[in-house]
Amino acid sequence: MKVFQNYPLLDHNTFKMKVSCRQFIELERPEEIVNLCEQHLLEQPFYILGGGSNVLFTKDYDGLILHPAFQGIDKIEEEARHVTLRVAAGTEWEKLIDYCIQHHYFGLENLTGIPGLVGSAPVQNIGAYGVEVKDCILAVDGYLLPKATPFHYQCDECQFGYRSSIFKKELKGKTFITHVLFRLSKEPHYTLTYKALSEELSCQQLEPSLDNIVRCVRAVRDSKLPDITKIGCAGSFFQNPIVPNEDYQRLKQQLPDLVSYPAGEKVKLAAGQLIDKAGWKGHREGDAGIYPKQALVVVNYGNASPEDIRQLYEKVISDVYTKFQITLQPEVNIL
Ligand SMILES: Cc1cc2nc3c(=O)[nH]c(=O)nc-3n(C[C@H](O)[C@H](O)[C@H](O)COP(=O)(O)OP(=O)(O)OC[C@H]3O[C@@H](n4cnc5c(N)ncnc54)[C@H](O)[C@@H]3O)c2cc1C
Repeated sequence: MKVFQNYPLLDHNTFKMKVSCRQFIELERPEEIVNLCEQHLLEQPFYILGGGSNVLFTKDYDGLILHPAFQGIDKIEEEARHVTLRVAAGTEWEKLIDYCIQHHYFGLENLTGIPGLVGSAPVQNIGAYGVEVKDCILAVDGYLLPKATPFHYQCDECQFGYRSSIFKKELKGKTFITHVLFRLSKEPHYTLTYKALSEELSCQQLEPSLDNIVRCVRAVRDSKLPDITKIGCAGSFFQNPIVPNEDYQRLKQQLPDLVSYPAGEKVKLAAGQLIDKAGWKGHREGDAGIYPKQALVVVNYGNASPEDIRQLYEKVISDVYTKFQITLQPEVNIL
Protein backbone atom coordinates (compact mmCIF):
# COMPACT_ATOMS: atom_id res chain seq x y z
CA MET A 1 0.00 0.00 0.00
CA LYS A 2 1.03 3.61 -0.48
CA VAL A 3 0.58 6.09 2.36
CA PHE A 4 0.56 9.87 1.92
CA GLN A 5 0.18 12.66 4.50
CA ASN A 6 -1.61 15.99 3.88
CA TYR A 7 -2.55 14.85 0.44
CA PRO A 8 -4.18 17.11 -2.20
CA LEU A 9 -7.48 15.77 -3.56
CA LEU A 10 -7.80 18.01 -6.63
CA ASP A 11 -7.09 15.09 -8.96
CA HIS A 12 -9.36 12.77 -6.96
CA ASN A 13 -12.67 14.63 -7.32
CA THR A 14 -14.34 15.46 -10.62
CA PHE A 15 -15.89 18.62 -9.08
CA LYS A 16 -12.27 19.88 -8.99
CA MET A 17 -12.47 21.17 -5.42
CA LYS A 18 -9.07 22.31 -4.16
CA VAL A 19 -9.13 20.42 -0.88
CA SER A 20 -6.80 18.01 0.85
CA CYS A 21 -6.98 15.22 3.43
CA ARG A 22 -4.89 14.43 6.51
CA GLN A 23 -3.90 10.97 5.25
CA PHE A 24 -4.44 9.13 1.95
CA ILE A 25 -3.88 5.39 1.60
CA GLU A 26 -3.90 3.68 -1.75
CA LEU A 27 -4.64 -0.02 -1.30
CA GLU A 28 -2.87 -2.23 -3.82
CA ARG A 29 -4.41 -5.51 -2.56
CA PRO A 30 -7.88 -6.05 -1.06
CA GLU A 31 -6.48 -7.82 2.05
CA GLU A 32 -4.55 -4.69 3.05
CA ILE A 33 -7.78 -3.39 4.58
CA VAL A 34 -7.44 -6.17 7.20
CA ASN A 35 -3.99 -4.87 8.22
CA LEU A 36 -5.36 -1.32 8.54
CA CYS A 37 -8.18 -2.57 10.77
CA GLU A 38 -5.73 -4.57 12.92
CA GLN A 39 -3.65 -1.41 13.36
CA HIS A 40 -6.88 0.36 14.55
CA LEU A 41 -6.41 2.93 11.79
CA LEU A 42 -10.12 2.97 11.05
CA GLU A 43 -10.95 4.23 14.52
CA GLN A 44 -10.50 7.78 13.16
CA PRO A 45 -12.81 9.41 10.60
CA PHE A 46 -12.29 7.67 7.25
CA TYR A 47 -13.85 7.76 3.81
CA ILE A 48 -13.55 5.39 0.87
CA LEU A 49 -12.95 7.27 -2.35
CA GLY A 50 -13.10 5.64 -5.76
CA GLY A 51 -12.87 8.02 -8.71
CA GLY A 52 -14.45 10.88 -6.73
CA SER A 53 -17.15 11.45 -9.38
CA ASN A 54 -20.07 11.34 -6.97
CA VAL A 55 -18.74 13.47 -4.17
CA LEU A 56 -18.58 17.15 -3.23
CA PHE A 57 -15.90 18.05 -0.70
CA THR A 58 -17.05 21.17 1.12
CA LYS A 59 -13.80 21.49 3.09
CA ASP A 60 -10.48 19.75 3.74
CA TYR A 61 -11.08 16.21 4.97
CA ASP A 62 -9.70 15.86 8.50
CA GLY A 63 -9.22 12.10 8.40
CA LEU A 64 -8.12 9.13 6.35
CA ILE A 65 -9.10 8.58 2.72
CA LEU A 66 -8.91 4.96 1.51
CA HIS A 67 -8.57 4.51 -2.23
CA PRO A 68 -8.86 1.03 -3.80
CA ALA A 69 -6.22 0.79 -6.54
CA PHE A 70 -6.35 -2.98 -7.19
CA GLN A 71 -7.77 -3.88 -10.58
CA GLY A 72 -8.68 -6.92 -12.63
CA ILE A 73 -11.48 -8.67 -14.48
CA ASP A 74 -11.75 -12.46 -14.02
CA LYS A 75 -14.19 -14.72 -15.81
CA ILE A 76 -15.12 -17.17 -13.06
CA GLU A 77 -17.92 -19.09 -14.75
CA GLU A 78 -19.18 -19.66 -18.27
CA GLU A 79 -22.39 -21.35 -19.34
CA ALA A 80 -24.03 -21.65 -22.75
CA ARG A 81 -25.84 -18.33 -22.42
CA HIS A 82 -24.17 -16.45 -19.58
CA VAL A 83 -20.81 -15.56 -18.07
CA THR A 84 -19.94 -14.47 -14.56
CA LEU A 85 -17.20 -11.87 -14.16
CA ARG A 86 -15.57 -11.01 -10.84
CA VAL A 87 -14.23 -7.49 -11.10
CA ALA A 88 -11.90 -5.76 -8.62
CA ALA A 89 -13.10 -2.52 -7.03
CA GLY A 90 -10.28 -0.35 -8.41
CA THR A 91 -11.03 -1.23 -12.04
CA GLU A 92 -12.24 1.74 -14.06
CA TRP A 93 -15.90 1.35 -14.96
CA GLU A 94 -15.24 2.18 -18.61
CA LYS A 95 -12.55 -0.52 -18.80
CA LEU A 96 -15.21 -3.05 -17.86
CA ILE A 97 -17.52 -1.70 -20.57
CA ASP A 98 -14.70 -1.97 -23.15
CA TYR A 99 -13.99 -5.54 -22.00
CA CYS A 100 -17.67 -6.46 -22.44
CA ILE A 101 -17.79 -5.00 -25.94
CA GLN A 102 -14.60 -6.83 -26.90
CA HIS A 103 -15.92 -10.18 -25.62
CA HIS A 104 -19.54 -9.66 -26.75
CA TYR A 105 -21.09 -9.76 -23.29
CA PHE A 106 -24.44 -8.01 -23.08
CA GLY A 107 -26.12 -6.12 -20.25
CA LEU A 108 -23.96 -3.16 -19.23
CA GLU A 109 -23.73 -1.33 -22.58
CA ASN A 110 -26.29 1.40 -21.71
CA LEU A 111 -24.09 2.33 -18.74
CA THR A 112 -21.12 3.38 -20.88
CA GLY A 113 -19.63 6.79 -20.16
CA ILE A 114 -20.29 6.83 -16.40
CA PRO A 115 -17.07 7.94 -14.70
CA GLY A 116 -15.68 6.17 -11.66
CA LEU A 117 -14.59 2.75 -10.46
CA VAL A 118 -16.34 -0.61 -10.36
CA GLY A 119 -16.36 -0.76 -6.53
CA SER A 120 -18.57 2.34 -6.39
CA ALA A 121 -21.14 1.15 -8.94
CA PRO A 122 -23.30 -0.86 -6.49
CA VAL A 123 -23.22 1.90 -3.85
CA GLN A 124 -25.76 4.11 -5.62
CA ASN A 125 -26.90 1.41 -8.06
CA ILE A 126 -25.71 3.45 -11.03
CA GLY A 127 -28.24 3.81 -13.77
CA ALA A 128 -28.69 5.36 -17.18
CA TYR A 129 -30.78 4.97 -20.33
CA GLY A 130 -33.21 2.47 -18.86
CA VAL A 131 -30.67 0.16 -17.17
CA GLU A 132 -29.53 -0.07 -13.56
CA VAL A 133 -26.36 -1.92 -12.62
CA LYS A 134 -28.35 -4.15 -10.25
CA ASP A 135 -29.86 -5.79 -13.36
CA CYS A 136 -26.45 -7.44 -13.98
CA ILE A 137 -25.08 -7.78 -10.44
CA LEU A 138 -24.92 -11.31 -9.07
CA ALA A 139 -23.16 -10.50 -5.79
CA VAL A 140 -20.91 -8.01 -4.02
CA ASP A 141 -17.84 -9.03 -1.99
CA GLY A 142 -15.93 -7.05 0.61
CA TYR A 143 -15.27 -6.45 4.28
CA LEU A 144 -17.49 -5.02 6.98
CA LEU A 145 -15.73 -2.20 8.82
CA PRO A 146 -14.16 -1.46 11.19
CA LYS A 147 -13.53 -5.14 12.05
CA ALA A 148 -12.75 -6.36 8.51
CA THR A 149 -15.29 -9.21 8.62
CA PRO A 150 -15.60 -10.61 5.07
CA PHE A 151 -19.04 -10.42 3.43
CA HIS A 152 -20.56 -11.87 0.29
CA TYR A 153 -23.98 -10.38 -0.45
CA GLN A 154 -26.19 -11.81 -3.15
CA CYS A 155 -27.93 -9.21 -5.31
CA ASP A 156 -31.23 -9.53 -3.40
CA GLU A 157 -29.44 -8.83 -0.10
CA CYS A 158 -28.08 -5.49 -1.38
CA GLN A 159 -31.49 -3.75 -1.14
CA PHE A 160 -31.03 -2.04 -4.48
CA GLY A 161 -33.44 0.77 -5.29
CA TYR A 162 -33.40 3.95 -7.34
CA ARG A 163 -29.85 5.36 -6.84
CA SER A 164 -29.69 3.48 -3.59
CA SER A 165 -28.51 0.29 -1.90
CA ILE A 166 -27.70 -1.13 1.52
CA PHE A 167 -24.19 0.36 1.05
CA LYS A 168 -25.68 3.86 0.85
CA LYS A 169 -28.20 3.37 3.67
CA GLU A 170 -27.94 0.89 6.56
CA LEU A 171 -24.27 0.08 5.87
CA LYS A 172 -23.20 3.57 4.78
CA GLY A 173 -19.50 3.99 5.62
CA LYS A 174 -19.39 0.47 7.09
CA THR A 175 -18.26 -1.59 4.09
CA PHE A 176 -15.20 -1.84 1.93
CA ILE A 177 -16.29 -3.37 -1.37
CA THR A 178 -13.46 -5.36 -2.93
CA HIS A 179 -15.17 -7.10 -5.88
CA VAL A 180 -18.42 -7.01 -7.81
CA LEU A 181 -19.72 -10.15 -9.53
CA PHE A 182 -21.61 -9.55 -12.77
CA ARG A 183 -23.76 -12.07 -14.62
CA LEU A 184 -23.87 -11.08 -18.28
CA SER A 185 -25.62 -12.49 -21.29
CA LYS A 186 -23.72 -13.99 -24.22
CA GLU A 187 -26.74 -13.45 -26.43
CA PRO A 188 -27.96 -10.10 -27.78
CA HIS A 189 -30.33 -8.58 -25.31
CA TYR A 190 -30.92 -4.83 -25.58
CA THR A 191 -32.80 -2.27 -23.51
CA LEU A 192 -34.10 0.42 -25.85
CA THR A 193 -36.91 1.78 -23.69
CA TYR A 194 -35.23 5.16 -23.25
CA LYS A 195 -36.53 7.54 -25.90
CA ALA A 196 -33.34 9.57 -26.45
CA LEU A 197 -31.41 6.35 -27.12
CA SER A 198 -33.88 4.79 -29.54
CA GLU A 199 -34.18 8.16 -31.33
CA GLU A 200 -30.40 8.43 -31.66
CA LEU A 201 -30.22 4.93 -33.16
CA SER A 202 -32.89 5.71 -35.75
CA CYS A 203 -31.45 9.18 -36.43
CA GLN A 204 -28.05 7.59 -37.18
CA GLN A 205 -29.88 4.81 -39.11
CA LEU A 206 -28.21 2.12 -37.00
CA GLU A 207 -29.45 -1.36 -36.12
CA PRO A 208 -29.21 -2.25 -32.42
CA SER A 209 -25.85 -3.92 -31.71
CA LEU A 210 -23.39 -3.66 -28.83
CA ASP A 211 -21.12 -1.26 -30.72
CA ASN A 212 -24.00 0.86 -32.01
CA ILE A 213 -25.67 1.19 -28.63
CA VAL A 214 -22.43 2.20 -26.98
CA ARG A 215 -21.78 4.70 -29.78
CA CYS A 216 -25.28 6.22 -29.43
CA VAL A 217 -25.24 6.36 -25.63
CA ARG A 218 -21.87 8.13 -25.78
CA ALA A 219 -23.23 10.57 -28.40
CA VAL A 220 -26.32 11.38 -26.30
CA ARG A 221 -24.22 11.77 -23.15
CA ASP A 222 -21.71 14.04 -24.90
CA SER A 223 -24.54 16.26 -26.11
CA LYS A 224 -25.96 16.73 -22.61
CA LEU A 225 -23.17 16.40 -20.07
CA PRO A 226 -20.04 18.47 -19.51
CA ASP A 227 -16.61 17.12 -20.43
CA ILE A 228 -15.13 16.59 -16.95
CA THR A 229 -11.62 17.18 -18.24
CA LYS A 230 -12.72 20.80 -18.85
CA ILE A 231 -15.63 21.55 -16.49
CA GLY A 232 -15.89 20.27 -12.92
CA CYS A 233 -19.06 18.45 -11.86
CA ALA A 234 -20.33 15.24 -10.28
CA GLY A 235 -22.96 14.34 -12.88
CA SER A 236 -26.57 14.70 -11.75
CA PHE A 237 -26.37 16.72 -8.59
CA PHE A 238 -30.01 16.08 -7.59
CA GLN A 239 -32.09 12.92 -7.41
CA ASN A 240 -35.30 12.76 -9.39
CA PRO A 241 -37.99 13.17 -6.70
CA ILE A 242 -40.42 10.31 -6.15
CA VAL A 243 -43.70 11.79 -4.93
CA PRO A 244 -47.19 10.60 -3.90
CA ASN A 245 -49.83 10.68 -6.62
CA GLU A 246 -51.58 13.71 -4.98
CA ASP A 247 -48.44 15.83 -5.36
CA TYR A 248 -48.11 14.72 -8.97
CA GLN A 249 -51.77 15.64 -9.71
CA ARG A 250 -51.36 19.05 -8.03
CA LEU A 251 -48.19 19.82 -9.96
CA LYS A 252 -49.67 18.62 -13.24
CA GLN A 253 -52.28 21.41 -12.92
CA GLN A 254 -49.48 23.94 -12.47
CA LEU A 255 -47.20 22.44 -15.19
CA PRO A 256 -49.30 20.71 -17.89
CA ASP A 257 -46.15 19.38 -19.65
CA LEU A 258 -44.83 17.80 -16.43
CA VAL A 259 -42.53 14.86 -17.18
CA SER A 260 -43.24 11.80 -15.03
CA TYR A 261 -42.52 8.09 -14.79
CA PRO A 262 -44.37 5.42 -12.80
CA ALA A 263 -42.53 4.41 -9.60
CA GLY A 264 -44.62 1.71 -7.93
CA GLU A 265 -47.54 3.44 -6.20
CA LYS A 266 -45.75 6.77 -6.51
CA VAL A 267 -44.59 8.95 -9.40
CA LYS A 268 -41.04 9.90 -10.33
CA LEU A 269 -40.58 13.47 -11.56
CA ALA A 270 -37.67 14.90 -13.54
CA ALA A 271 -35.71 17.16 -11.18
CA GLY A 272 -34.03 18.76 -14.22
CA GLN A 273 -37.40 19.90 -15.58
CA LEU A 274 -38.39 21.48 -12.25
CA ILE A 275 -35.04 23.31 -12.02
CA ASP A 276 -35.43 24.45 -15.62
CA LYS A 277 -39.04 25.62 -15.03
CA ALA A 278 -37.87 27.51 -11.96
CA GLY A 279 -35.50 29.42 -14.25
CA TRP A 280 -32.11 28.09 -13.12
CA LYS A 281 -30.89 26.29 -16.23
CA GLY A 282 -27.73 28.03 -17.47
CA HIS A 283 -27.64 30.32 -14.42
CA ARG A 284 -24.12 31.22 -13.35
CA GLU A 285 -22.76 32.86 -10.20
CA GLY A 286 -19.03 33.42 -10.64
CA ASP A 287 -17.56 30.02 -11.51
CA ALA A 288 -20.47 28.04 -10.02
CA GLY A 289 -23.33 27.29 -12.37
CA ILE A 290 -26.22 25.15 -13.51
CA TYR A 291 -25.18 23.49 -16.75
CA PRO A 292 -27.01 25.09 -19.72
CA LYS A 293 -27.62 21.75 -21.48
CA GLN A 294 -28.78 19.79 -18.43
CA ALA A 295 -30.28 21.54 -15.41
CA LEU A 296 -29.58 18.56 -13.11
CA VAL A 297 -25.87 19.24 -13.27
CA VAL A 298 -24.18 21.76 -10.98
CA VAL A 299 -20.83 22.79 -12.45
CA ASN A 300 -17.53 24.37 -11.50
CA TYR A 301 -16.31 26.44 -14.45
CA GLY A 302 -12.82 26.68 -12.94
CA ASN A 303 -12.32 28.33 -9.60
CA ALA A 304 -15.60 27.85 -7.75
CA SER A 305 -15.01 27.20 -4.06
CA PRO A 306 -16.99 24.59 -2.10
CA GLU A 307 -18.89 27.52 -0.55
CA ASP A 308 -19.86 28.91 -4.00
CA ILE A 309 -21.23 25.50 -4.98
CA ARG A 310 -23.07 25.09 -1.66
CA GLN A 311 -24.72 28.53 -1.89
CA LEU A 312 -25.88 27.81 -5.42
CA TYR A 313 -27.38 24.37 -4.83
CA GLU A 314 -29.09 25.54 -1.64
CA LYS A 315 -30.71 28.42 -3.55
CA VAL A 316 -31.94 25.97 -6.20
CA ILE A 317 -33.45 23.62 -3.59
CA SER A 318 -35.14 26.50 -1.80
CA ASP A 319 -36.51 28.12 -4.96
CA VAL A 320 -37.85 24.83 -6.39
CA TYR A 321 -39.60 24.27 -3.06
CA THR A 322 -41.09 27.79 -3.07
CA LYS A 323 -42.38 27.40 -6.62
CA PHE A 324 -43.49 23.75 -6.64
CA GLN A 325 -43.50 22.51 -3.00
CA ILE A 326 -41.13 19.70 -3.98
CA THR A 327 -37.98 19.16 -1.92
CA LEU A 328 -35.01 18.19 -4.06
CA GLN A 329 -32.41 15.91 -2.49
CA PRO A 330 -28.76 15.85 -3.56
CA GLU A 331 -27.67 12.61 -5.24
CA VAL A 332 -24.03 13.55 -4.67
CA ASN A 333 -22.27 12.62 -1.40
CA ILE A 334 -21.56 15.89 0.39
CA LEU A 335 -18.62 15.84 2.78
C1 LIG B 1 -20.13 13.58 -15.90
C2 LIG B 1 -20.74 12.57 -14.94
C3 LIG B 1 -21.77 11.75 -15.38
C4 LIG B 1 -22.35 10.81 -14.51
N1 LIG B 1 -23.36 10.04 -14.99
C5 LIG B 1 -23.96 9.15 -14.16
C6 LIG B 1 -25.04 8.33 -14.62
O1 LIG B 1 -25.43 8.39 -15.80
N2 LIG B 1 -25.63 7.48 -13.74
C7 LIG B 1 -25.20 7.36 -12.45
O2 LIG B 1 -25.77 6.56 -11.71
N3 LIG B 1 -24.18 8.11 -11.98
C8 LIG B 1 -23.55 9.00 -12.79
N4 LIG B 1 -22.53 9.78 -12.33
C9 LIG B 1 -22.12 9.67 -10.90
C10 LIG B 1 -20.89 8.77 -10.66
O3 LIG B 1 -20.07 8.71 -11.80
C11 LIG B 1 -21.27 7.35 -10.26
O4 LIG B 1 -22.03 7.37 -9.07
C12 LIG B 1 -20.04 6.46 -10.04
O5 LIG B 1 -20.41 5.14 -9.77
C13 LIG B 1 -19.17 6.97 -8.90
O6 LIG B 1 -17.95 6.26 -8.98
P1 LIG B 1 -16.65 6.80 -8.22
O7 LIG B 1 -15.64 5.70 -8.24
O8 LIG B 1 -16.21 8.09 -8.80
O9 LIG B 1 -17.25 6.98 -6.76
P2 LIG B 1 -16.87 7.98 -5.59
O10 LIG B 1 -17.45 9.32 -5.88
O11 LIG B 1 -15.43 7.92 -5.31
O12 LIG B 1 -17.68 7.31 -4.40
C14 LIG B 1 -19.09 7.22 -4.45
C15 LIG B 1 -19.59 6.56 -3.16
O13 LIG B 1 -19.21 5.19 -3.14
C16 LIG B 1 -18.45 4.89 -1.97
N5 LIG B 1 -17.42 3.93 -2.37
C17 LIG B 1 -16.55 4.06 -3.40
N6 LIG B 1 -15.78 2.96 -3.52
C18 LIG B 1 -16.18 2.11 -2.53
C19 LIG B 1 -15.76 0.82 -2.11
N7 LIG B 1 -14.77 0.15 -2.74
N8 LIG B 1 -16.35 0.26 -1.04
C20 LIG B 1 -17.36 0.92 -0.40
N9 LIG B 1 -17.80 2.14 -0.74
C21 LIG B 1 -17.21 2.74 -1.80
C22 LIG B 1 -17.88 6.22 -1.53
O14 LIG B 1 -17.56 6.21 -0.15
C23 LIG B 1 -19.02 7.15 -1.90
O15 LIG B 1 -20.02 7.09 -0.89
C24 LIG B 1 -21.90 10.71 -13.18
C25 LIG B 1 -20.85 11.53 -12.74
C26 LIG B 1 -20.27 12.45 -13.62
C27 LIG B 1 -19.14 13.31 -13.13
